[in-house]
Amino acid sequence: LTSRLRPFTSTIFAEITELARKTGAVNLGQGFPDTDGPAGMLRAAQQAIADGVNQYPPGAGEPDLRAAISEHRQAHYGIEYDPDGEILVTVGATEAITASMLALLEPGDEVVLIEPYYDSYPVAVAMAGGVRRTVGLRQGPDHRFELDLDALRAAAGPRTRALVLNSPHNPTGTVLTDAELHAIAEVCREHDLIAITDEVYEHLLFDGRAHTPLATLPGMAERTVTISSVGKSFSATGWKIGWACGPAELIGAIRAAKQFLTFVGGAPFQPAVAHALRNELDWVRGLRDDLQRKRDRLSKGLTEAGLDVLASEGTYFICADVRPLGFTDGAELCRALPERVGVAAIPVQVFCDDPEPVRHLVRFAFCKQDEVLDEAIRRLHGLA
Ligand code: PMP
Ligand code: GLN
Repeated sequence: LTSRLRPFTSTIFAEITELARKTGAVNLGQGFPDTDGPAGMLRAAQQAIADGVNQYPPGAGEPDLRAAISEHRQAHYGIEYDPDGEILVTVGATEAITASMLALLEPGDEVVLIEPYYDSYPVAVAMAGGVRRTVGLRQGPDHRFELDLDALRAAAGPRTRALVLNSPHNPTGTVLTDAELHAIAEVCREHDLIAITDEVYEHLLFDGRAHTPLATLPGMAERTVTISSVGKSFSATGWKIGWACGPAELIGAIRAAKQFLTFVGGAPFQPAVAHALRNELDWVRGLRDDLQRKRDRLSKGLTEAGLDVLASEGTYFICADVRPLGFTDGAELCRALPERVGVAAIPVQVFCDDPEPVRHLVRFAFCKQDEVLDEAIRRLHGLA
């Protein structure tokens, strides 16, 4: 293994999921739902297979899916993307992120990441020979995470080429405020950065919050690559259909990288995702409301089990401080938890260059059936 990749040999999700499997633990670690997406979408994929949509699709993705993505961004956010040239279908958001780095970074270029960061970002930067600069999203006094705006302004320098943003944010569940988004946009404009925004949780915001794509802020559309995917919005994390939208010059570059990573992917899923984007948004609103109730259910249960629960404003995830139960290190606890009480969770520190500020935090996924959440809570009472 090269020195570039040696720091990243195994993902925390694979490690904890394997531990959960071996011990029979309730898995609130890896974020995937345990119920299926909308029936019409599932039927559309079956129909596409029966209809012979089984060969390589066009390199940029099925034209009808690109049209549906364009309609979706127009309808929800009022932003226009030309399906021919400004939209690229990828193998999940993950490929869109990696292809973006490979396409847009020269070796030595710096990328600003907000930490805790999603685990694939630093690896994608490393694969492209880039250098990451991290800025903290830190626990504020009111149990909400806040972006350190001074650190953000200080992070961008002459070698900085791009910034990666993820809101709603995995693992904290934070939805960045308009003020935070405007501050990020200002830094991008001032330092002429490309913004790469990971919006896979764009429909999963709670308590009436609305999603604001960074690309809709002044001066940002021409420098922003917006990434999303089918996985979270439509409960189909295994389908791995994602997309990147942005100016033709950037999308063309990303397409050049993508064609030699996977060329294309998921032919019969593409018409099904087009169907979902056009016809299943009511279903998604139901999912969001369900997830909000599940967040409250797990939050209450974790609190009763003695943990100090932080706010979750969106995503599948909620974080809790484990110190009230006498633990100091979330990673140690998460490696022992499956054996000890039969629950799996993810330590937040693995998503950070500087683990200290979040050493005591553990992430729990609530995208699970109520019985599963209740059983996990029952077991977690054994920790006290
Ligand atoms: N970004 C974030 C923030 C995620 O939580 C995930 C995992 N669902 C991904 C990207 C990966 O998305 P996909 O499965 O579409 O590759
Ligand atoms: N995005 C999911 C999570 O954060 C899992 C993705 C993965 O397993 N790589 O839990």
